[in-house]
Amino acid sequence: MTDVFEGGEKLPLIEEFYTLQGEGFHAGSAAYFIRIGGCDIGCRWCDTRISWRADLHSLASVTDVIAKVASTPARAIVVTGGEPTTYNLAPLSREIRKHNIKAFLETSGAYPLTGEWDWICLSPKKQQLPQPEFYDIAHELKVIIQDEADLEHAERQAELFRNTPHLYLQPEWSRHQTVTPMLVEYIKTHPKWKISVQLHKYLNIP
Ligand code: SF4
Repeated sequence: MTDVFEGGEKLPLIEEFYTLQGEGFHAGSAAYFIRIGGCDIGCRWCDTRISWRADLHSLASVTDVIAKVASTPARAIVVTGGEPTTYNLAPLSREIRKHNIKAFLETSGAYPLTGEWDWICLSPKKQQLPQPEFYDIAHELKVIIQDEADLEHAERQAELFRNTPHLYLQPEWSRHQTVTPMLVEYIKTHPKWKISVQLHKYLNIP
């Protein structure tokens, strides 16, 4: 069968934009986002459902995309989705690093990792837990919280790391007005965690 992705040299690109990272450890820092289509995880609160079907998005050459990023002042690229580990990410990460730009990955960890990354943010989903390797290599654990039951999931995920990563709890946006106060109280009694508030939504930027 023809590999339309040419081993990761081409990827279904949903959108790309230069903005400020709104979530987790790098919140507030400038970053160029590359959103790749294709995800079979099916989170019920997913705010990027347009990303689920890869075939709706045009294939883009990773060389062309990263050459464009390199013409901007961006010093970090965040690869997100969709679920980027669906694909061979080695050509993309190689191209990013060739331009001396930091390569950051946002993933649920659903599939084995490819490529080399300066920063991995693991955002595990209950219905398809991460590949075990991510508990050794992720720099940041970011768990989306929709209700109190998700806190148990977050704690179980944190326990699986050998070395403690940066730990974030992030209110699911459609319920943030209810969940945020609950997380503030939870973090006061469980101070290993920090809150991640989707700063970009408060700033009204992409
Ligand atoms: Fe949406 Fe991400 Fe869940 Fe996929 S893993 S369904 S893109 S929130």
